[in-house]
Amino acid sequence: MSDSRKSRAKAPETMPAGSEQAAAREPLLHDALIVGGGLNGLTLALALAEHDLEVGLIERADPDAHLAPGFDGRVSAIASSSARMLRALGFGDLLDEVGCPIRAIRVTDGGDNVRMDSRRGAPGLLHFDSAEAEPAEPLGIMLENRTLRAALLERLRAHPRVRLYAPASIESRERGADEARIRLADGRELAAPVIVACDGRPSALRKEAGIRTAGWQYDATAIVTVLAHEKPHRNVASELFYSAGPFAQLPMNDLPDGRHRSALVWTVHSKDAEGVKALSPRAFAHEAEKRMGSFLGKLEVIAPVQSFPLNLQHAERYWANRLILVGDAAHGIHPIAGQGLNLGLRDVAALTEVLSDAARHGLDLGHPDVARRYERWRRGDNFTTAFTTDVLVRLFAIPGRPAERIRSTGLAAVNRLPFLRRAFMAIARGETGDRPPLLRGELG
Ligand SMILES: Cc1cc2nc3c(=O)[nH]c(=O)nc-3n(C[C@H](O)[C@H](O)[C@H](O)COP(=O)(O)OP(=O)(O)OC[C@H]3O[C@@H](n4cnc5c(N)ncnc54)[C@H](O)[C@@H]3O)c2cc1C
Repeated sequence: MSDSRKSRAKAPETMPAGSEQAAAREPLLHDALIVGGGLNGLTLALALAEHDLEVGLIERADPDAHLAPGFDGRVSAIASSSARMLRALGFGDLLDEVGCPIRAIRVTDGGDNVRMDSRRGAPGLLHFDSAEAEPAEPLGIMLENRTLRAALLERLRAHPRVRLYAPASIESRERGADEARIRLADGRELAAPVIVACDGRPSALRKEAGIRTAGWQYDATAIVTVLAHEKPHRNVASELFYSAGPFAQLPMNDLPDGRHRSALVWTVHSKDAEGVKALSPRAFAHEAEKRMGSFLGKLEVIAPVQSFPLNLQHAERYWANRLILVGDAAHGIHPIAGQGLNLGLRDVAALTEVLSDAARHGLDLGHPDVARRYERWRRGDNFTTAFTTDVLVRLFAIPGRPAERIRSTGLAAVNRLPFLRRAFMAIARGETGDRPPLLRGELG
């Protein structure tokens, strides 16, 4: 066992404001300090704690404010391997009872005219069906970000091996030869052998460590909301490609009053984003209907309309002295294939395995060999997915009839080849490569 693990002292379970001066003198020791309580940071904290590590999670925002509908109205497609990890962490009931399974995905080149596939009654040139997938599980489970966030927070707040510092601002960070330290603005001093940066795309920790990123801004902004609709979606997601970007309808569970519901991710050129956001709910629904056709019947906007400017970025390395990058802090991609969070959750699964394995062998959790093992495990998958999504974005952005015809031919060709469809589905579901135990549903 490393010195830092041996000397770990149990910190007080609660941190009343009055205890801060006393606490400031002695650092509170942890096995890992996680900075950033987004979905990746929260999941990592729980996964590490379930593997007997003492974790400190620092989030600058009030976690309860993160649960408000106006904060993050996104609904994420949780791929089957990520779902297996969440089940292993105890969220099976949440996925089954609150999540909405995606049974099929239809991909169409929107072009100027939405084509209707008469056999299926919905837009479709390329059709992925979960019945063909191996194993025959849903292609994904749609879950509201704030629902998952709330469930994770509830577990973390009650977990004996997790200390939640939130809202908390960091005054200084120090990554020395033997340990890393974080001083909070209220004077508390935290120490651990390793800091994990889960602080999102702008990651201050990554920048401070001098880790550069490669990437670019897309001339695209995702407009996100939730629509109620007249006809059922039958658990089918549809993605229509326009030159400004994809227009995606993603199935959600019916509302308590029986109305059918889908999430919408509509990509527009960035200059048009404010205009689209300013549309009245009725005009917004009308524009959405023009783009997706009438297969869901009359549409109604039932959630705030939010916008997310899109970029691609990939860190040149995933670690520095006693620092490891996870999730969007390491890689941010276009949401065209709904893979960003899933990549982050795969980082979480790999890092949990690497750190818990190191702890079992009594190694220093902040040793470069530990960080290198994590980086080797995750870099290829993250890079390939970022590259593939970027190619898709560019391919579908080429305007004009000839490009449209070539794309349609390509989609139709893939549609005729079941083995290719199955291969695409396996990749999108995170079922390929060397999967850590959590992604196989094992807690270890
Ligand atoms: C429109 C859209 C749709 C998407 N849909 C999907 C989908 O369907 N499926 C999918 O897999 N992915 C999807 N994604 C991607 C996914 O949302 C992100 O990859 C994921 O949310 C990133 O999570 P994170 O925890 O790494 O970072 P973030 O969510 O950015 O969280 C970072 C956290 O760190 C905190 N923080 C930052 N700095 C500090 C600091 N100094 N001190 C303390 N705390 C700090 C922040 O307050 C925040 O809570 C989508 C993305 C977009 C834009």
